Amino acid sequence: MDKITERLKQPVLPQRLAPYWCSVCGKLVTMIPIEEAAMISKVSAEAIYHKIENRSLHAIRTSSGAHFICLASLTQSVLRQAINAKNLSSPDKH
Ligand SMILES: [Zn+2]
Repeated sequence: MDKITERLKQPVLPQRLAPYWCSVCGKLVTMIPIEEAAMISKVSAEAIYHKIENRSLHAIRTSSGAHFICLASLTQSVLRQAINAKNLSSPDKH
């Protein structure tokens, strides 16, 4: 009983869409909801929308109006961010 109550308290995320054809990647990818993309990349949902606008993330919009992010583009974006952060925090050690 308690476990069920606990599960109901969890925020409900929209299901991932996979496999899904990303026309930008030109391949089948996993599409994840904005909220999950924000969680993975540790930024706000607003930042995710901003990345969609400047095309660093590939996104689709379902008929219900929900946005989904191409996981391949998100992974690349997170990697780029990590590299940039590393470059900024550890300047030349020589
Ligand atoms: Zn893509």
